[in-house]
Amino acid sequence: MSFADSLWHSTAGESFDARPPLPGNIDVDVAIVGAGYTGLWTAYYLHSIDPSLRIAIVERKIAGFGASGRNGGWCSALFPPASSGIARRHGAEAAVAMRRAMHGAVVEVGRVAEAEGLDIDYARGGTISLARNSAQLARAREIVEDERGVTGDVEGLELLSKEQAEEHARATKVLGGTYTPHCAVVHPLRLVRGLAACVEARGVSIFERTTASEIKPGAVVTENGTVRAEIVVRATEGYTPSLRGQKRRVIPLYSLMIATEPLPEEAWDRIGLRRRQTFADLRHMRIYGQRTADDRFAFGGRGAPYHFASRTRPSFDRNRRVHSSLREVLVDLFPVVAEYEVTHEWGGALGIPRDWHASVGLDRSTGFAWAGGYVGDGVSTTNLAGRTLAGLITSQANGLTTLPWVGHSSRSWEPEPLRWLGVNAGRVLMSTADRSETRTGKPAKRARAFARFIGY
Ligand SMILES: Cc1cc2nc3c(=O)[nH]c(=O)nc-3n(C[C@H](O)[C@H](O)[C@H](O)COP(=O)(O)OP(=O)(O)OC[C@H]3O[C@@H](n4cnc5c(N)ncnc54)[C@H](O)[C@@H]3O)c2cc1C
Repeated sequence: MSFADSLWHSTAGESFDARPPLPGNIDVDVAIVGAGYTGLWTAYYLHSIDPSLRIAIVERKIAGFGASGRNGGWCSALFPPASSGIARRHGAEAAVAMRRAMHGAVVEVGRVAEAEGLDIDYARGGTISLARNSAQLARAREIVEDERGVTGDVEGLELLSKEQAEEHARATKVLGGTYTPHCAVVHPLRLVRGLAACVEARGVSIFERTTASEIKPGAVVTENGTVRAEIVVRATEGYTPSLRGQKRRVIPLYSLMIATEPLPEEAWDRIGLRRRQTFADLRHMRIYGQRTADDRFAFGGRGAPYHFASRTRPSFDRNRRVHSSLREVLVDLFPVVAEYEVTHEWGGALGIPRDWHASVGLDRSTGFAWAGGYVGDGVSTTNLAGRTLAGLITSQANGLTTLPWVGHSSRSWEPEPLRWLGVNAGRVLMSTADRSETRTGKPAKRARAFARFIGY
């Protein structure tokens, strides 16, 4: 069971006893399916706006079982799509508003953790993205120009020389990079478990080991009974395809992680990351890492296969090839890591919409609300989603309900076997593009664009 294999599970400091399941039919004002960050932030802000609301959450396993309990702990301002994509669809003003809202979400997670006494090891050190070949360096320049061209100085995204990048992280082959201050690291599982305890203490009901089979207007149907509610919130992210009628809404894409034993101070003197900056390089097949509060590396990346018919299984959380290659990549970045053991390997499913565009919304006519499709950038975006849904549901204009992702609708994924063929071919193409860029130093733009077109 991969949930229990993660570094976060072994350092969460709790017993993970499940709460009781739904006892039968009940009536509430708001029913939420899924006790990850999305469901719990929504409950948190709904309750703070209107403490009289009766809110129930049904969760298939236990709170934090999904991506929220297993992720890389980047509480970042990254948002899919990037500012240029938002500006193309909604205009530059909307793109700036989205950036400011995401910056606010990074801060808000830290504020709530402090206010509620959640021990989540929050540290706002920003993100260093390294360029380690000429193609990546060209991309660093493009990303900075692109962002500045749309949002001006709002982002504070800096283009770094080799020396400036190495001030942050002394990785090998560094030619330059980018730095943004808008990211914090967190202990992701303590955040989601802490939120669950917090909303429960305020009277929100959480029913664990309760699987919803269907979401209908005014009702969540589970194996244990039906939760009737005026508003129903879908907060199931990568697991959404298992719900009746939602098969092609998002695909579950697996991201896998490793963690090392704690490294001594001498090793960190050679590595850097003094302020616990999150780090990545600018390859296409995304990697991400953090220096944990107890001085380990927690490091992850994509590259695991997409499974036919959007299946999710605990066995998919492990993949020998990907886990070994994660260790190789980490050693390639920071050779000193070769002297230390990898102590944990795990993984989990992200939710990817067809256009890789996150969304949040409420259909007043059916009472159906949703948030998701975060494409692996959900730690802070879920906080924004929770505040936005609370505003939509209670009809409070909080400045967030008009952001450009509200009400966005992505088209459905193709039926199988096209979906499987497209996503996996795109995945292979992305890796090939990275290898070619390492070898030639030339940007593989066409391969990347085609990979995105066919689904990855
Ligand atoms: C390995 C990994 C690394 C990641 N790293 C980062 C990162 O560093 N930064 C970042 O921003 N994002 C990261 N992400 C993404 C981020 O974790 C997610 O976007 C975010 O946690 C989504 O939260 P959620 O509540 O919407 O979904 P989830 O946390 O997946 O929660 C959904 C919940 O719904 C429950 N559920 C599903 N179906 C049903 C059903 N039928 N009935 C009842 N309950 C159901 C599930 O059990 C689950 O608990 C990562 C994800 C993974 C897997």
